[in-house]
Amino acid sequence: MDLSGKAAIVTGGADGIGLASAERMAQLGARVMLVDIDADKLDAAVSRMKALGHEVVGQHADVSDEGDVRAYVEAAKSHFGRIDGFFNNAGIIPRYYGVLWDCPADDFDRTIAVNVRGVFLGLKYVIPVMIAQGGGAIVNTASMGAAGGIPGSSPYVASKHAVVGLTKNAALEAATAKVRVNAVLPGNIVTRMSGLGTPGEKANQERLAAMVPAGHMGMPSDIAEAVCFLMSDAATYITGIELPVDGGILAA
Ligand code: NAD
Repeated sequence: MDLSGKAAIVTGGADGIGLASAERMAQLGARVMLVDIDADKLDAAVSRMKALGHEVVGQHADVSDEGDVRAYVEAAKSHFGRIDGFFNNAGIIPRYYGVLWDCPADDFDRTIAVNVRGVFLGLKYVIPVMIAQGGGAIVNTASMGAAGGIPGSSPYVASKHAVVGLTKNAALEAATAKVRVNAVLPGNIVTRMSGLGTPGEKANQERLAAMVPAGHMGMPSDIAEAVCFLMSDAATYITGIELPVDGGILAA
């Protein structure tokens, strides 16, 4: 895979799947902008990537805020002159975890705001830039929860089904302009969000790993490889797909 000469934006880029993907993009030759709501983690991630010799900039933003989204797209345009790749990845799992009828409406609203409105706004402002420059590649982060239900996780599952819907619609609408839009569907990945990234979670990891046909949890780097492939010119004829990266969970 080769991403040399490309400029990419990664939202939720200060941690987990976003940071691993940004680092892989940079290893493959891309210049990268990390976008994140957590300013301290963002600074740390930018410093870490710079120390590795990568060309990286950080932009503090809440992806659910339209002004912030406009600002990070403008900043990327003025810094790089173009946007070839966009990893539309930032997302949250609400702290609530229970049956739908006990779910506070505020938790539902915040999940939809970040996971759906955030993805929508990213598409809305990045696609015209890509159309104007003659093409580009976008990857949205959905989830294996976009393929069915996960009891106890209604807001999250609803949000990730919506991400797949937005992916397909944007892919259809932008295809003739050579803008590709695909989605990755991560399975159980070891990150802070999944609560599986700390040693104290070992028992939980082992329980979840037993449910994975491949027999082990996924790592952020597993998602990064799929994202970089979909962003690369090797995937030029691929658009509108939902790609599970889950060790076989969705095959069952
Ligand atoms: P993470 O918590 O490690 O990283 C998410 C990053 O997004 C954090 O740096 C956080 O500060 C940032 N973020 C959160 N809200 C934001 C906002 N409003 N604006 C800008 N940045 C914001 O989580 P992760 O596991 O790397 O998750 C990344 C994506 O992968 C999410 O969309 C998540 O739903 C999806 N996903 C994760 C798993 C998993 O098992 N970890 C599984 C399926 C899907």
